Amino acid sequence: MLPSQHAGWYRFIQSFFKIFSGPQMSIVTTVVFFSLAVFPLTTFAAPPNWSGPYTPCRRHADLLSHGHMELGVRIATSNAALARQFEEAMDFWAQVLDIDWHETDSDDCAIELVDGTPALFDIAGDCGCAIARAQYPDRADFEGWIAFNPEPKFTRQEMFRNSVHELGHLFGLGHNPDSSSVMFFSDFDQLVSLDSADLAALAARHKLRANVARTGVTTVYVMAAPAAGE
Ligand SMILES: [Zn+2]
Repeated sequence: MLPSQHAGWYRFIQSFFKIFSGPQMSIVTTVVFFSLAVFPLTTFAAPPNWSGPYTPCRRHADLLSHGHMELGVRIATSNAALARQFEEAMDFWAQVLDIDWHETDSDDCAIELVDGTPALFDIAGDCGCAIARAQYPDRADFEGWIAFNPEPKFTRQEMFRNSVHELGHLFGLGHNPDSSSVMFFSDFDQLVSLDSADLAALAARHKLRANVARTGVTTVYVMAAPAAGE
């Protein structure tokens, strides 16, 4: 007996296949129908992205490109030190992926760095630390936003590393259980690296820099450049 909540799906799929198939398709119909009944589509639906009162980036779809990316980056934080480290983080990513980026103050942007509101970080998500949040390109309402929590006092190294991490999410990376990866759940190391799993995931979505792809380098280490005068 099928669970009652799936009966509607069953009837819908059954009637659909009655239109497009004859009796010889009955086995296929049954298999497809049963699969959808047991594993309804809603099971796989990710929650939508977080939202907030931030200005939109109308070119956020540029982040979905499998080829060269020319990205406009709007830095809307009031934290000058964070802005500087975010720029460094963009330069890091431009060494890994085929990216050219420029800063913009208009909505002609693909990425936007904002100061989050306290409520945005009051979560118990997969990170738990809620020091910064990025949107995910595979989820609904994707705007290319990254929000930092303005409350904690970060070192420059932490700002850099967290920026690289959050940008990794914008480029489609999830968390990596290996603590040597910058996509590990938590901070922190003096080095910022991507391991072979990260690079494979990136290559499935984007174009890697030629030297990364050619040499088979599976790990990239880059130290955060010290910011003069800070
Ligand atoms: Zn994360």
